[in-house]
Amino acid sequence: MIATNLKVQDGVLHFAGYDTAKLAKEFGTPLYLMDEARIRYNCKMYQDAMVEFFGPQALTLYASKALSFKHIYEIVRETGLGIDVVSSGEIHTAVQAGFPMEKAFFHGNNKTDADIAYAMDCGVGYFVVDNVEELYAIEHIAERRDHVQKCLLRVTPGIDPHTYDAVATGKVDSKFGVPIETGQAEEFYHYATALPHLQVEGLHCHVGSMVFDEDVFERTAQIMLDFMGQLYHAYGFETKLLDLGGGYGVRYRESEGVVDIPYRISALAEFMKGYSEKLGIPFPAVLLEPGRSIVADAGLTMYTVGSVKRIKGYKNYVSVDGGMTDNPRYALYKAPYTVFAPERMDAPPTLHCDVVGRCCESDDILQPDVWLPELRRGDLLAIATTGAYNYAMASHYNRIPKAPIVMLSEEGAKIAVQRETFDQIIQNDL
Ligand SMILES: *Cc1c(COP(=O)(O)O)cnc(C)c1O
Repeated sequence: MIATNLKVQDGVLHFAGYDTAKLAKEFGTPLYLMDEARIRYNCKMYQDAMVEFFGPQALTLYASKALSFKHIYEIVRETGLGIDVVSSGEIHTAVQAGFPMEKAFFHGNNKTDADIAYAMDCGVGYFVVDNVEELYAIEHIAERRDHVQKCLLRVTPGIDPHTYDAVATGKVDSKFGVPIETGQAEEFYHYATALPHLQVEGLHCHVGSMVFDEDVFERTAQIMLDFMGQLYHAYGFETKLLDLGGGYGVRYRESEGVVDIPYRISALAEFMKGYSEKLGIPFPAVLLEPGRSIVADAGLTMYTVGSVKRIKGYKNYVSVDGGMTDNPRYALYKAPYTVFAPERMDAPPTLHCDVVGRCCESDDILQPDVWLPELRRGDLLAIATTGAYNYAMASHYNRIPKAPIVMLSEEGAKIAVQRETFDQIIQNDL
């Protein structure tokens, strides 16, 4: 099995200790199931490793764009992590969940004036400033409030982490941040530190997502430490916080590897300590911002099959009652997934098919080239590792209501996000 929270019992797929077929019957499909213990475990794994290898000031931030709804912020608060937020909508959700906003870091390459004002009014601890124009917008809005805003400067180290293009963000020509290589990051630093209502606490970078390569974070850290050394030796500037972003990969298919995150963190810390000593700079508080690797393997999506279409001499399609509206990742990135027939786990996989959604769009494919047991209308399908960037990216295309999220824990199966109703779909239509 691709994850330890998946098991087969009497031919039925169990997830987080629950019979998935029973849950599908109880809550209906499409349905997002979340393993709450797994989210807590992943949060703790990161934070324990960060503190062990980087020391007590190190902090893990959950990149909440991966999956944002009220209850997740409660879990993150209880496990002691901070959060990344990228919009007023995420800030509002976290505030409503009672999250301590001084531990929130506000990202994004285009924060509107309204976003900036709202974030300050909600007490967001840190702004991760993306560009020079944004610096002045923040300064201006902070001045009106007589507030000094702590911030990090987002710079691009010029690293291509060899993942999909759409999720590589650390390249010199990225839309995010200010490049070091061109000298613009140093100018950015000068502009920022001249502003009285901004307090520059440190630097931020994020090179991309689905990072498996051993040395990506070390190479990134080296460039960032070099830049810190440059600012320290030339201007005496001490980078108190160094945020290296998120991006560790997760396993979507049996054939993919598993990143040993505590081990990677230990290797990164060892490298960084040695290198910063060599540069003669004070060691910063280090931050990481995992999103996917906190929630991906805590999710499983359940569907019901509507039809099995066999186009003689060509191919077979299995259509389900969800699709790109609840999981657009194959349509967007050709993302791999593992599909199961949860009630027929012991049956031979004799049906070669594309698993497709119900949207009026040919690219509404959840996963092509899958081998499944023989299926018919009414059978269940499950797709694993859907905790990250599924519900978060869900849409109302074709006016399909969003699926509910059910949290599974020792206390039972509890609805955390209700299934949308048709009336909610039209609630803003005048
Ligand atoms: C998306 C993003 C993350 C999280 O990336 P994952 O691949 O989900 O770990 C962290 N930081 C920033 C700035 C991001 O844009």
